[in-house]
Amino acid sequence: MAKNLKTLRCPICRTIVLAGSEDFPFCSDRCRVIDLGKWASGGYVISSPIHDPDLLDELEGLRDRGLSSSGPGSGDGE
Ligand SMILES: [Zn+2]
Repeated sequence: MAKNLKTLRCPICRTIVLAGSEDFPFCSDRCRVIDLGKWASGGYVISSPIHDPDLLDELEGLRDRGLSSSGPGSGDGE
């Protein structure tokens, strides 16, 4: 019986992922990288209703610094 295994869906592609998977909660390293890329590129920030221009400037500054200093690239690894 495998019913005790906890499962989640990959937040990127909605594939079912088994708890304990190497890349949990993502289905694969690829999806994990995509998720990191979303944060780095501000995808989640843009989708949020932020109306404070100062805060946006601050986030942009953080984003630029993060990308230039230790960015993992934007997925051109193929
Ligand atoms: Zn996935």
